[in-house]
Amino acid sequence: MKAIVFPEAEQLSVETVSDPTCKPDEIIVKVAHSGICGTDIHIYRNEYLSEFPLIPGHEFGGKIVEIGNNVTGFKEGERVVIDPNLYCNHCDFCRNEQANHCTNWQGVGITRSGGFAEYVNVPAKSAYHVPDSLTNTQIAFVEPLACVVWALKRMPVAPADRILIMGSGPMGLLLLQALRHGGASQITIVDKQANRLKIAHQFGATQTLVANDDQDEQLKDWAPHGYDIVIDATGVPAVIENSFQHLKVRGQFLQFGVTPMDAKIQVSPYDIFHKDWTIIGSFAVCYTTIPAIAWLENNVIDVEPLVSHKIPLSDFESGFQNFMSGDTLKVHLTIGD
Ligand SMILES: [Zn+2]
Ligand SMILES: [Zn+2]
Repeated sequence: MKAIVFPEAEQLSVETVSDPTCKPDEIIVKVAHSGICGTDIHIYRNEYLSEFPLIPGHEFGGKIVEIGNNVTGFKEGERVVIDPNLYCNHCDFCRNEQANHCTNWQGVGITRSGGFAEYVNVPAKSAYHVPDSLTNTQIAFVEPLACVVWALKRMPVAPADRILIMGSGPMGLLLLQALRHGGASQITIVDKQANRLKIAHQFGATQTLVANDDQDEQLKDWAPHGYDIVIDATGVPAVIENSFQHLKVRGQFLQFGVTPMDAKIQVSPYDIFHKDWTIIGSFAVCYTTIPAIAWLENNVIDVEPLVSHKIPLSDFESGFQNFMSGDTLKVHLTIGD
């Protein structure tokens, strides 16, 4: 089969590799669409949890073409989406409802072969049935959307909260849509790119702002006492550090964007104390696939405008370079039907 391989850091190739084999607890999925994610850039640069060589790709779904001997509940031909996070179910964290911190955690497309390939073997426990009404584009958004579900489970939104989102990329735009349903009175979103902000406006952002040298004054005009919630969806340390000045007293700061693992920022501990701040992290997902499917099934979240490029596997190299340049929104590999 054809697959994308990261043979080592900062290298990639489109290769013909042997088809995966199906272990007793696994299924083989013929991949439909597969989303390229900011995490894939961190993997490529060796800033994440992966080892090389790796077939990446953790945002995908497809059709089951083979079923392992021990697997029940699935049939060949059924469409499924994969929760790439694999938990051991027996460590202390798994047994204490903290499975995303499993000490034996593995990730499809992160620590084992993923969905930038025609076929992939995955444990059957990672697969979820999807309704027929969902398009392949929607299925490839289930995993990023499950991250949004997890973030909003971690961070309660109060009625009429004022919210500031830094970053209007695909994740910022998913967060924006989800928060529109959460009772916020104001959602302000900042990005370097005006075209992304146009989409944010369509999705109901109350204010959009192209990042500039005077942005902090403008943000203070729009929310003189600061924002109840500030969300980083950029993963850029300088943006994160700067955005704390907009957090209101009793405010919640959500770190959603993924920074390099060794990044550091300065935050005043006195401010955290004196302003009653809450700082929230949100790592990946934690059994949040089913709610993500429900959002899509009921058209609560619209994902089609978030895909700027749909490309075949063979165009991965240019598509990935383009994605890394930051000029795209979501890039989907259209691998199978
Ligand atoms: Zn991702
Ligand atoms: Zn575990």
